[in-house]
Formats: sequence, C-alpha cells, structure tokens
Amino acid sequence: MVDRPQPLPQLSGVRPYVPGEAPKPGAGRTFKQASNENPLGASPQAQQAFSALAGRLEIYPDGGAAALKAAIAARHGLDPARLILGAGSDEIFLMLGRAYLAPGTEMICTRHAFAIFAIIGQQQGATVIEVEERDFRADVDLILASLTPRTRIVWLANPNNPTGTYLPFDEIKRLHAGLPGNVLLVLDGAYAEFVRRNDYAAGLELAAEHENVVMTRTFSKLYGLAGLRLGWGYAAPSIIDALERVRMPFNVNLAAQAAGVAALEDEAFTRMSLEHNDRELARLTEGLRALGLEVPDSVGNFVVARFPQEPGRTAQDALAFMKNRGVTLRGLAGYRMPEHLRISVGVVEGNDAVLEGLAEFLAQK
Ligand SMILES: *Cc1c(COP(=O)(O)O)cnc(C)c1O
Repeated sequence: MVDRPQPLPQLSGVRPYVPGEAPKPGAGRTFKQASNENPLGASPQAQQAFSALAGRLEIYPDGGAAALKAAIAARHGLDPARLILGAGSDEIFLMLGRAYLAPGTEMICTRHAFAIFAIIGQQQGATVIEVEERDFRADVDLILASLTPRTRIVWLANPNNPTGTYLPFDEIKRLHAGLPGNVLLVLDGAYAEFVRRNDYAAGLELAAEHENVVMTRTFSKLYGLAGLRLGWGYAAPSIIDALERVRMPFNVNLAAQAAGVAALEDEAFTRMSLEHNDRELARLTEGLRALGLEVPDSVGNFVVARFPQEPGRTAQDALAFMKNRGVTLRGLAGYRMPEHLRISVGVVEGNDAVLEGLAEFLAQK
C-alpha cells in the first residue's frame, strides 16, 4: 500500500475537460471564437438584475429557485414541479451521473459527442461506450445495437457540439422507442433555440410523456450567461425526485437565479441574438467554403471546418496562425477530429477576421 490517500481508481482514466482559450490581450482587437458564447454579450436586463444584487450577497439563494422555475415554466408552457436547475447544464449531467451511473453499469454516447458525458461516466466508474457516427452524425441503429442489460444512460446532444449536426425528431422518437424503459435518454438541447429546421424538436414532449427521458437546456449560449452557470432540465417526477436527492441545497447562486428570470423576459435581446446568428452562421459557412475548406451544415452557433493534411496547412497550424492574430478558435483533437477546427459565430468583425485570416493562411506558400 502506498502511504497516501488513494483517489477512487476510476479517476485515473478521467481526461479533464479542456476549455476554449481566451486570446491574449494584444495591440489590436481580439476575438474569442472558441467557446460558443454569445458574441453580443449578455442580455442587458440580466446584467441589470445581476448588478442590483450587489447589496444582498450575504443572503443564501432560494434553494428551490421558485421564481426562476416559474419563469421557465411560463415561457415554455411546462409544469414547474418537473424542472431541475443546475449550475450550468453540466451540473445536471453530473447529477444524472451520480443518480444513475456506478461501476458495473454502462453509458452510451457517440464518437464525437460533447466531452462532458464521457467524463462524468468515467468519474462514476461506469463503462463508457462510444458509438461510431456516420458523417459526423449520431446513428440511431448503431446506438440501439450497443445496448446491453447494463446500459443505464444514452446521452445525445441535439444539435451536437462540436459537429453542429442534429437528428430530426422522428429519429429521436425512433431511438426512444428502441430503448428499454429502464434506460434513461438524456437529450441535451444546449443549442435548441438556434435550430431553424421544421423537422427538429428539442424533446420536451418526450420528456413530458415518458418516465425515461430528460431534456436539458442552458442559459450559457443564447442568453449569454455562461459566466453565471445556469441550466435546466425537464423530466418525469421519478427522475426529478432522484436528482433532488443528489443536488446540493444552494447549487444555483443568487445572481444566476435573478439574471435567469430577467434574461427570459428580455425578448429584444433574444431576438437580436438569433437574427445575428442566422445571418452570420450563413456568412461564415459560405465564406469558409469559398476558401476551399470542407464545412458541413451546422444548425448551432458554430461551424467546423476541415483543413488540409499538408504540413503548414493543418488545423493545428491554422489554430496557431489565428491565435497570433488575436483570434482563438477551438482545436478538436480531443474530440477525435484532429483535421477540424470549431469556429464559433462571432461579432461581424470577428467573423471578418476569421475569413480574412484563414484566406491569408491558406494562400501562404
Ligand atoms: C455549451 C454546452 C452545454 C452547456 O453547458 P453549461 O454547463 O450549461 O454551460 C451543454 N451541452 C453542450 C453540447 C454544449 O456545447
């Protein structure tokens, strides 16, 4: 025995999450397009609600977050008793892991899935099954073929990050129909608001009707509140009951609760953010394709672009080149996409900087 405290054995397999890099403050303007944040900032009404709390920081937040739950329920037409709130949707995923995964159980995610799912599975000591995708899209048949009697959770971000692809609701329903009742389907709708497709649904309806579906959402992307950490989930009472048993009493802080309520009311900011994304996502996609890069259609607030394999022109080279110019993008080697970079939709000037910078990068001799 080594004479020091031994962490749980499964923790040796955990690869800690690598966040998007912020640009170093430079001479000119810099742009962080590495973390899918709202390029227009946070809702002004949310900022005001946040500032107004400065004199009340000694007070514990409402542990049940009644006002915020009521606001979310009113906005989406939901039963507030079926809501769970987290310090980011990440914390809801963690609560799901704690409630449903342990050594001897299995969880399923896909090859290029959002990294947090596998991290949580490993932390819990569960076996993480990563299923192949087809054309960077989850494949329902391959997921269903990977079920075993030990499977407890199937995780699916829809749309997925980093690929930007999505499954139509018909496919989600087919996936759910193929799951045994004791397997939980987690539908992560972090980018749901950005999707402009008639065949898409985030899964609220499934979560309302079935006892084995959780749909999660976040205030980090559209609402621009990534720094406050706020997400929510919708599920059957039996699931909410389990999550409440692992939830820490004051997990959502005072400022996040107040800013969340205000952000939901700030329809002008939400509308402006969505209009900006619609316009700039299309411009970025077309601009990158015009440079000869392969860019699959994305329905989120980011795109992935595939770079050549020639030395000097690779994704890694482009990442370094753009970083030198004050623009940070996201490398995807950790997502098994080493030839790709993920580029968040930025402000107009940031997207210009990306397109101009990469044009120069690719023109280099
Ligand atoms: C950004 C993101 C989230 C949101 O995480 P928070 O903890 O709510 O900030 C969830 N899922 C995916 C796929 C994401 O990209």
